[in-house]
Amino acid sequence: MAKDLCVIKGKCVTIVNCPTCEKEVKWLPESLYRPFCSKRCQLIDLGEWTDEKKVIAGSEDDLMSSEWEQI
Ligand SMILES: [Zn+2]
Repeated sequence: MAKDLCVIKGKCVTIVNCPTCEKEVKWLPESLYRPFCSKRCQLIDLGEWTDEKKVIAGSEDDLMSSEWEQI
């Protein structure tokens, strides 16, 4: 872990941990999704990562249905 990132260009930079994946994120204007490390993590936290959720939920449902059918 690179904790020495705290000082960049002579300035102390706050390092936060991404609430979703706990990766270190520099609190800088260019960190557009702070405190998240990426747009993906932001969407996950906001519950808007619906595409992936739908896929996962759908496949789980399919597995459940086929198990029930076998019984
Ligand atoms: Zn993240």
